[in-house]
Amino acid sequence: MKTIGMIGGMSWESTLVYYRVVNETVRERLGGLHSAKSILYSVDFAEIEALQHAGQWDAAQSILVQAAQSLVRAGADLVIICTNTMHKLADGVAASITVPLLHIADPTAEAVLAAGINTVALLGTRFTMEEDFYRKRLEDRYGLRVLIPDAVQRRTVHDIIYTELCLGRIRESSRQAYVRIIEDLVARGVRGIILGCTEVGLLVRADGCPVPVFDTARLHAEAAVAAALTE
Ligand code: GLU
Repeated sequence: MKTIGMIGGMSWESTLVYYRVVNETVRERLGGLHSAKSILYSVDFAEIEALQHAGQWDAAQSILVQAAQSLVRAGADLVIICTNTMHKLADGVAASITVPLLHIADPTAEAVLAAGINTVALLGTRFTMEEDFYRKRLEDRYGLRVLIPDAVQRRTVHDIIYTELCLGRIRESSRQAYVRIIEDLVARGVRGIILGCTEVGLLVRADGCPVPVFDTARLHAEAAVAAALTE
């Protein structure tokens, strides 16, 4: 089994999900007392969030590069960045290390296609929804049609992530706000919802949605295990 290096803490609420899923997935695959070999480098999310909203992406990238290189020095055979938003910096991080970086959008797109769906909505931070780094990968590499909420809805989705979910606050009123936005997107023609923020799976449940949901945290963690168990 290879060792998974995780750059986490963005936020730690969803890094907990990653830790649980990598271990549960290894147990399902190998049985008994097997668990994932992993190393976690968990950052201070307050520093990252301040740099994001100030547009200081170079400084944020330095933090991620240092984390990734530390994981490789510590023995990681592959690295994952446990957040969608920070994949804005994925190319720079990947170029700074000697082991593979598994991009979160890839297992997500593969799961969408495997479900026979090609029109999806992307819910995440404003960075993830509005910029090209994520959506274009889904469109260009996988041929998906990707819709995003309107401007008012995007603000709601973004604000709930930073002011509630990343602080561990799970509110029924916010769940209902997300469901209303999802219903609107379904009326616009989407057939699946990408939970393109690793905390959104803490709020939105598959059984509360009219179409399939794709939880990026879970899919990314499972893909890391698949890679770790491949010779
Ligand atoms: N974890 C979130 C994501 O998947 C948001 C926090 C962050 O900005 O990294 O995008």
